[in-house]
Amino acid sequence: MPGSELKILLASPRGFCAGVTRAVQIVSMALKKFGTPVYVRHEIVHNKYVVQKLADEGAVFVNELDEVPDGSVVIFSAHGVPLSVIEEAKRRALTTIDATCPLVEKVHKEARKNHNDGRKTLLIGHKGHPEVIGTMGQIPADEIKLISSVSDIDAIPADWADNLGYVTQTTLSLDETAELLQALKSRFPSIVKPHQNDICYATTNRQKAVKAIAKKCDLLMVIGAPNSSNSKRLVEVAKEAGCAHSVLVQRAADINPDDLAGVKTLGITAGASAPEVLVREVIDTLAGHFKITLSEHVETEEKVSFPLPASLRE
Ligand code: SF4
Repeated sequence: MPGSELKILLASPRGFCAGVTRAVQIVSMALKKFGTPVYVRHEIVHNKYVVQKLADEGAVFVNELDEVPDGSVVIFSAHGVPLSVIEEAKRRALTTIDATCPLVEKVHKEARKNHNDGRKTLLIGHKGHPEVIGTMGQIPADEIKLISSVSDIDAIPADWADNLGYVTQTTLSLDETAELLQALKSRFPSIVKPHQNDICYATTNRQKAVKAIAKKCDLLMVIGAPNSSNSKRLVEVAKEAGCAHSVLVQRAADINPDDLAGVKTLGITAGASAPEVLVREVIDTLAGHFKITLSEHVETEEKVSFPLPASLRE
């Protein structure tokens, strides 16, 4: 009930990862270097607040390159782009800045290596996600198949068996992917795995932190966007780890304090594209309705950062 005591347990790490921090910085620095407008193909990261803030600074978000006037500067989002988009930008002599996360770029390289070594590629991921579209677009379409379920594995042609590698989307659930990989390896024992796990450090750490607090929480809020893959996975992971009442929340305005009736311990985390300011906004709003006590579970410390593109460092 509003006015009652509420223990808030913050998961850490949460929120912005190194790839998102870099992508947002790239847009801000490009605006300073080139002036407005700077075009950005797709949401730079999946968060409306972040996108709106950059739009207010002069970034223009577009869906495709045909919306970008000749002679413009265009930034590719953190999720990566198919090779065809890079080629199209080159053909039109657009000035491009690539904000693809280096860990997504690593997956692209693995897919291209499979292709160069004569192997077909299976991509474990979610249909329609921009990162999946970007990775699928690194090699010819008849050399890569998307795997989202065990039935997709059953449907792989038998003649792919001897020369096959796999890669994964970076923001998948660790546990679900482990199940799919088991099925994949049992059908294709000689499948070539990525050099290093493709599910990134940020996805891994945020899921582990949520798992650590889920059982202690009556309700767990994941601050994030409905189109953010890693935020949606955090809700699923929290439910599987013991907090059946786990929800995605975009902003404090989405919260109805009456919905917290009976909640004694509230867990809060944030997806990799949600800034800390939105977490603070939620806490401040709840503090206006409850007597809150705040504690933090730190699962691991993150010290990852990625360099900016050379063209912005000059
Ligand atoms: S979630 Fe992982 S892959 Fe995606 S931008 Fe962040 S660090 Fe990069």
